[in-house]
Amino acid sequence: MKLKDVFISLSENQFLNQAAQKYGLKMGASSVVAGTTIEEAIEGIRELNRRGISCTVDCLGEFVSDKAEATKAKDQIIHVIEAIHDTEVDAHISLKPSQLGLDIDYAFCLENLKEIAETASRYEMFINIDMENYERLEPSFRLLEELTQNYPNIGTVIQAYFYRAQSDIERLKDYRLRIVKGAYKETNDVAYQDKMDIDDNFLRLIEYHLQNGKFTSIATHDHQIIEHVKRFVEANHIPKDKFEFQMLYGFRTELQYQLAKEGYQFCTYVPFGTDWYGYFMRRLAERPQNISLVTKQVFNKKTNIILGVAAGAFLLGRITKKK
Ligand SMILES: Cc1cc2nc3c(=O)[nH]c(=O)nc-3n(C[C@H](O)[C@H](O)[C@H](O)COP(=O)(O)OP(=O)(O)OC[C@H]3O[C@@H](n4cnc5c(N)ncnc54)[C@H](O)[C@@H]3O)c2cc1C
Repeated sequence: MKLKDVFISLSENQFLNQAAQKYGLKMGASSVVAGTTIEEAIEGIRELNRRGISCTVDCLGEFVSDKAEATKAKDQIIHVIEAIHDTEVDAHISLKPSQLGLDIDYAFCLENLKEIAETASRYEMFINIDMENYERLEPSFRLLEELTQNYPNIGTVIQAYFYRAQSDIERLKDYRLRIVKGAYKETNDVAYQDKMDIDDNFLRLIEYHLQNGKFTSIATHDHQIIEHVKRFVEANHIPKDKFEFQMLYGFRTELQYQLAKEGYQFCTYVPFGTDWYGYFMRRLAERPQNISLVTKQVFNKKTNIILGVAAGAFLLGRITKKK
């Protein structure tokens, strides 16, 4: 099993996800998660706003299998929308359907989303439906299409590793879309596995939506992709108000500031909350060395502590699964 797969398995382990909620941000997670409370997140957003960067806020949580938990998540997201409005920070919401009960009951999830959309629309706030794994792709698109009949200020994500991404982007070209490479483990029945194939498709999709679609959010830390996009928009006279770059909180911060300084619209994805574990493990799956650099700063030594802890947690996960 590859290291990437280890971290993805960890991210999906329910026991570890629940166990981690009892603790504050551990293992260097505080560098990529903007605190456990909304007050801490608002502070982080203010700092980014001061640098001309807007934010999309993720109240961490996913894979909810209990209606009470999903209702709690919905209430929390509504609370965050109110807090963004009251504090007048420049931010909107990103959310995950599985957090709001998609795995329990589609209609229940839709009702939760409607309540959230109703509140957001009062403040003309945009909502992004984050995209999860392949199983949840089609139901999430359906949620988007049903919701936008009454609440048009909602968009979603296209994941470039899926073979079907081109037809999805054509179907959704009238939406504001975030385009990403894709973060989950998918099989080769449905998704490219090779980095070059994913990168090529990523560029094709970005170019397509820049030329044919509504607003495009190019979400990547990959400077080669970013440089390509800069050249492409220049050559094709695509105005700067038709797209933005997005990165995750705590990643390539200097490059985030630099792009905003160069006059590009920039939006940082700001996750916060106690349910940080799955998110953090997916970030490790993408690029373990990022976090080991982070932990180096935090602990000053033992740069690989994070990998050790994560591997230990993986073994623990296997043991508990066997029980
Ligand atoms: C704002 C945002 C929202 C997202 N939303 C979703 C979603 O809804 N669903 C989903 O499936 N995925 C989502 N993702 C994750 C995404 O799918 C990728 O898994 C993730 O962004 C890693 O791919 P990448 O394009 O950033 O670059 P990678 O493919 O990880 O890296 C490419 C190259 O970029 C450089 N690089 C990357 N990171 C760094 C760094 N920190 N420091 C220095 N160099 C670096 C390196 O040269 C690296 O080889 C989101 C990502 C972002 C940024």
